[in-house]
Amino acid sequence: MSRYSGAHTYLHSFPTTTVGDTNAGQAKQQHSDAGAPFHESPQYILPAVQESSLPPQKHKRRRTAHRKEKRFKGIPASPGIIIGTAVTFAVEPITIHTNPIEPEQIQAEIERFLHAVQECTADLHRTIAMANEEAPVVAPILEAQLFMLNDPAVCAMVSNLIQQRLYSADHAIQETFDSQQALMLHTSDPYLRERATDIENVKQRLLNFLAHRNISIPTIHNDSIVISESITPSDVMLFRKQGMKAFATELSGITSHAAILARSVGIPAVVGLANVCKRIHTGTQLIIDGFAGIVITHPQPETLEHYRQRQQELEHKARILGKYATLPSQTLDGHKVALLANADTPEDIELARTSGAEGIGLVRTELQLLERQLVPTEHEQEQFYRELAERAYPLHITLRAFDIGSDKSFGLISNEPNPALGLRGLRFLLKHRAIFTAQIRAVLRASCHRNVRFMLPMITTVQEFHKALSIIEACKTTLRDAGEDFDNALPVGAMIETPAAALIAHELGALADFFSIGTNDLTQYTLAADRMNAHLTPIYDTFHPAILRLLRTIIEAAHAHNIPVAVCGEFAAHAAATELLVGMGISELSVAHTSLLDVKKRIRGMRFSTAHALANHALTLATSSEVRKYLISATT
Ligand code: PEP
Ligand code: MG
Repeated sequence: MSRYSGAHTYLHSFPTTTVGDTNAGQAKQQHSDAGAPFHESPQYILPAVQESSLPPQKHKRRRTAHRKEKRFKGIPASPGIIIGTAVTFAVEPITIHTNPIEPEQIQAEIERFLHAVQECTADLHRTIAMANEEAPVVAPILEAQLFMLNDPAVCAMVSNLIQQRLYSADHAIQETFDSQQALMLHTSDPYLRERATDIENVKQRLLNFLAHRNISIPTIHNDSIVISESITPSDVMLFRKQGMKAFATELSGITSHAAILARSVGIPAVVGLANVCKRIHTGTQLIIDGFAGIVITHPQPETLEHYRQRQQELEHKARILGKYATLPSQTLDGHKVALLANADTPEDIELARTSGAEGIGLVRTELQLLERQLVPTEHEQEQFYRELAERAYPLHITLRAFDIGSDKSFGLISNEPNPALGLRGLRFLLKHRAIFTAQIRAVLRASCHRNVRFMLPMITTVQEFHKALSIIEACKTTLRDAGEDFDNALPVGAMIETPAAALIAHELGALADFFSIGTNDLTQYTLAADRMNAHLTPIYDTFHPAILRLLRTIIEAAHAHNIPVAVCGEFAAHAAATELLVGMGISELSVAHTSLLDVKKRIRGMRFSTAHALANHALTLATSSEVRKYLISATT
């Protein structure tokens, strides 16, 4: 029977330490000095001292110190808010002795190793069966670990070390798995680096088995928040069954398997919190904010009140959105249209996620600049974009390059008589290279999780776009040379918001990874109607046939180049426009989170075939009012 039965599936990545030397004489000396049995039972440090068990004086001091609210900032790995009680895991490392074994022990050590493989395999099979029922997303991860565990090449390496170098089974396992892990850790790809965790998990399974680790887990209650150095998907499944409501770890990233699982089963999680195991004790009241990546200990009454209110708001929102938030955005006849959100702050991203957005279709990065009245430093930008990307993960996020002009350049350029027709958007950035390249580098660094798209506003010529692409490539080279991590395949899109860009969409489509149509500006520039001028409201009308025809040209070009095409202007949320845009073949709509549900309801209520016919007819009409009247009568 497996020694992992019962509480056994606690498969934490325990740290290991190595004692000894391969020199036999010295090793023997060290072994006896250490006075430890060869396979000593590990010391499992149960949760930190309970406050009530301390002597009165100390107790008082400690309680006072503990009452101070503290905030720990990590990486948001799975959204949600939980108020609960900490259960902290602290584990003493397994000690691996490196003393050589006697030649007559070779066979026994090989058998110990093979027995460990057999038992761990049986145990993994049981966990996979549990995963198939409870959390299918995790089963393939465990199957990959099963494959690693039984990899004949790895088994041969371990056996060779035992046979030829007189390593103990534990030492041989450590050496073999560590060398495999090192290969993974040296790649710059975070995905592969995370997979090194799988190797570590397999190694720990084997070492725990050999060390007779029969660990009893501190009791997990219904409001427990697990705090630990790292956590495996099996831990998440087991602890969740026992009542765990959230977890926070020192290690792992947002692409770790535990984080993927947490998102899939809806458990809030924060990762990358340095040294929390030593600083958060079992029994401490905690708030975990999985949206912001924050853990708060000993929350003050106002903080508790604030978070309780947020919990209520989230529940309220979930009730209002009901089933729609999780239902797919597709028509009755199965045509999918990705529903994205426009978001400018971390809070907007939180709201977009709870509204069921499939990604963030537009971040107006210049708002950071407007708020501060100066251009943020490269580091400040990086921090901001990184936070947005991490909050959105695994959804993608579309960062738009600064769309600034002489009306909001803070003295960088002299005032122009007509800023909308002046040095705006990409034109401005190409003239102010230092600002552009700093932003590109910040965006690239924030792309390390592979969920960032970058798009360029106010394009009128192919050359501009070309130039921007070569500047982006040069920035990639700079970062690559410095050994920095970024998404080499960062998608770069073109905003189509001038009639010129629409009319050269075919040429731009050959260069861009996606299109995003800015109908706010496309309307202003096509109809020569200032979008800010209230007197022009009757003229500023996106239902104008000229705009519809430009939309058709853009969408056709995107289809011809097989790239996604979004609408991120206000028109995307217009009640009378949804059927028209879907019928024209738009692939993404990006709207404010408050409009998401309404747009999804409309998409789910229409047939693509009908919408297509409706769009074709709308395109034959001569005036805005005819188009409006037709769409309203046909869709209500
Ligand atoms: C647009 O022009 O439609 C758009 C989305 O960008 P902005 O409103 O920021 O100009
Ligand atoms: Mg615009």
